[in-house]
Amino acid sequence: MVIRAYHESRGDHHRNICLIPSSAHGTNPASAVMAGMKVVVTKSTEKGNIDIDDLREKAELHKDNLAALMVTYPPPHGVYEASLGDITKIIHDNGGQVYMDGANMNAQVGLTNPGNIGADVCHLNLHKTFAIPHGGGGPGVGPICVAKQLVPFLPSNPLVKTGGDQAITAISAAPFGSSLACLISYGYIKMLGASGLKRSTEVAILNANYIKKRLQGSFETLYSGELGRAAHEMIIDCRPFKAHGIEVVDIAKRLMDYGFHAPTVSFPVAGTMMIEPTESESKQEMDRFCDAMISIKHEIDSVSKDDDNNVLKNAPHTMNMITDDEWLLPYSRQQAAFPLDYVRDNKFWPSVRRVDDAYGDRNLICTCAPIEAYMEA
Ligand SMILES: *Cc1c(COP(=O)(O)O)cnc(C)c1O
Repeated sequence: MVIRAYHESRGDHHRNICLIPSSAHGTNPASAVMAGMKVVVTKSTEKGNIDIDDLREKAELHKDNLAALMVTYPPPHGVYEASLGDITKIIHDNGGQVYMDGANMNAQVGLTNPGNIGADVCHLNLHKTFAIPHGGGGPGVGPICVAKQLVPFLPSNPLVKTGGDQAITAISAAPFGSSLACLISYGYIKMLGASGLKRSTEVAILNANYIKKRLQGSFETLYSGELGRAAHEMIIDCRPFKAHGIEVVDIAKRLMDYGFHAPTVSFPVAGTMMIEPTESESKQEMDRFCDAMISIKHEIDSVSKDDDNNVLKNAPHTMNMITDDEWLLPYSRQQAAFPLDYVRDNKFWPSVRRVDDAYGDRNLICTCAPIEAYMEA
């Protein structure tokens, strides 16, 4: 909306095309459309990078109406794209502004910054990089930072003076967001200080590469940078296991038996798992995770496509199953519930067996009991 206001202030009311690489998070095209733009998707290369030739072609084709590029850096496939400076130049040369999705600032803070790559707007997911708890639907906070030419258009507020002198309307009711949530980020930044923030980034990158290296031979990383490394996250390819009848979701469910909530499944590539340890996990925890993954790989190797009555397809295993008098599965209860020694120390019991996720996502089921149910009998 700020970019649109900028174009309009220059009489460029027609600039409404937003280029978005195909690897982008779904929130990017959704945001562009909400801001009144038309999305044009650009291709990725085999290595998962932005296809610069395709991007240049589309930027030039739409140069009269180009409003913006939305780009994530480092991108969700977890490598630092070397050509980002060239990409922002192509957009600027064709009259567009560059919006950098800052969801992956955890791989930048203290080492580089969105200004270096020529971004004009960047949002910070305070609920990601800056310690506000993330998940369960919030609280998300995403302030934007902008280059000088966009400052006049920053959002206003009807009660408290904020934003620039040609401000767009208020985006949220509270002028500076939730003081309860934002204080957490403030505390995180103040307590770590400049050197601590930089160290967090370094450790996040180190942790990702540690896991990448430990899983090598069991799980291959889909994309690596020019030096064979990941940024702060990596994608492991689970598609080859289809030969054993195993899907990525089976690995995700089996991880629960090992006491882990699965990392991101099937984003940005279907059939893969994206692992982002961040700086917060200890080496012991990462080792437990890698041990679990390697053990699961052995389990995958031992199952066959023709027989799906196995420890992976039946995962997760509940306490009810394990303690039932009857046990008819072709592997032991030990193997089902305590596959590695460490699990014994702090067993997490999944409360239900597998649910049909896709069905649940597509069918809204209201569980509100009728008011009569609250009446005393
Ligand atoms: C998480 C993420 C988003 C969305 O952020 P939310 O504020 O959590 O909805 C957008 N882009 C990328 C690359 C992300 O990883």
